[in-house]
Amino acid sequence: MDQNKCLLLKNGTALIHGENDRVEARRTDILVAGSKISMVAPNIAAPPGAEVINCTDKIISPGFVDTHHHVWQTLLKGRHANHTLMEYMPEGNFTSSLHSAEDTFWAQLTGCLEMIDCGTTSVVDFAHVNYSSEHSDQVIAATASSGIRSIFCYCPTPLLKTWKPFAVEMNSLGGHVLLKFDELASKAPWANGRITLGFAFDGFRFLPHENLQALMTRLRENKVQLITYHYSRVPEQGSGSHTAQLRDLGILDDRFLVSHGGNPSQEDADIYRQFGMHVSSTPSTELQMAMGSPVAAFRDDLGDAMPQCCSLGVDCHSNNSAFIPGEARMGLQSARASRGEKFLAQGKSPNSVHYTVEEAFNLATIRGARAAKMANRVGSIAEGKLADLVIFSGTSPGMVGAAQHDPVAAVILHSSPADVEYVVVDGVLRKRAGKLVNVDVDKKAQGFVGQPKLAWDDVAKEVVSRREVLQKKIEKIDMRAAAEGIKDMWHLDRSKLVDSI
Ligand SMILES: [Zn+2]
Repeated sequence: MDQNKCLLLKNGTALIHGENDRVEARRTDILVAGSKISMVAPNIAAPPGAEVINCTDKIISPGFVDTHHHVWQTLLKGRHANHTLMEYMPEGNFTSSLHSAEDTFWAQLTGCLEMIDCGTTSVVDFAHVNYSSEHSDQVIAATASSGIRSIFCYCPTPLLKTWKPFAVEMNSLGGHVLLKFDELASKAPWANGRITLGFAFDGFRFLPHENLQALMTRLRENKVQLITYHYSRVPEQGSGSHTAQLRDLGILDDRFLVSHGGNPSQEDADIYRQFGMHVSSTPSTELQMAMGSPVAAFRDDLGDAMPQCCSLGVDCHSNNSAFIPGEARMGLQSARASRGEKFLAQGKSPNSVHYTVEEAFNLATIRGARAAKMANRVGSIAEGKLADLVIFSGTSPGMVGAAQHDPVAAVILHSSPADVEYVVVDGVLRKRAGKLVNVDVDKKAQGFVGQPKLAWDDVAKEVVSRREVLQKKIEKIDMRAAAEGIKDMWHLDRSKLVDSI
């Protein structure tokens, strides 16, 4: 086990944040002692027993921060390639009901390992899979086993009662749900502090006044630092702003993180600024599912509020890659495209691209850390911060040339997960020389896993067989009818859902 050992990264090109989030590519050594970065300087002598990694021609980046991700969805991968949001809802979101607690462990572990493989070291996990107390425990056990850093945002999950007619338990805070939340709050954090407790909920707007007040009191008593909810301003959900509704209910503050925030109004942007809130933009799903151009940091037509509050997430690795630089790339280039279209519409062309790779890189790192309320601990390379680091090859076929000329451009526009050679989380190597290291299985899962350690191949084999079982269950369900049921439940305006304009 690598824990508590010293790690010396020799002669790498480190991407170091300075004033105003400017990024400097600096040739340096980095010494990791225990879980922290203890020294950033040239020519550091290796302490006795230190593991030394030669980083010549390699780029050392802060670990990426993914601020919106449903990590349990691995068994659904590939399913939503041509789905709208309303097609995704039954086949994606509500198939949580078909997952056993053991399925959830394997799916969650694989989701975490995919992220680590991609260089993500911290994630805000919007966990809407809490069908039972055991499901929550296995999500945490899998996350702990993987080694990733996570804010486990416990979600009171709308529990499915029947597929046809489509019906869910309307009181999503009843039964075991809040009792489990209290129990988790009494036990958090987990895994040496790597996993903390947050809260994810899309139902604030629908709670009776007393219940809402009681819930907010509970969140304070349980010391929850991060609260997240889904919101994009889309026509079928009405013209009003959900965020404005929450403001009017008097519950917003700087703990709130909006998932997506698509198609924001000036009112939305003003609220984010007023309350110090943040937004997690997830370009792949927002582009696919008609939530407007991804807001990322690039919606500067609403003043500087959006650039200040944005970060990046993957949302559904069931639908797209978990590679955060890929999302940064997509957000950046789509913003350039949207801006260019405005010029073209007036018969002109822009003289500059306006949005830079440095801004995209910051969304993936320091701004993500701010959105997750972790900027004092992660998101940049600095002495005293936690050692969450990604080391890219600078000489792979994709990276060579770009890595030497402009390492930030190399990471944002040229890299792939295959270029991620080493990943360090909390001072521990979790990917080494291009391969995920074996994981120690959390003791809560060892009973059914049957072994204390797992190699990636063991995990992949289990996912393939569990996915097949899930597929057979899904094939028996009338998903079109379920989608209609969800539209009724959400009181969507069907006149706004059309096939052509
Ligand atoms: Zn989501």
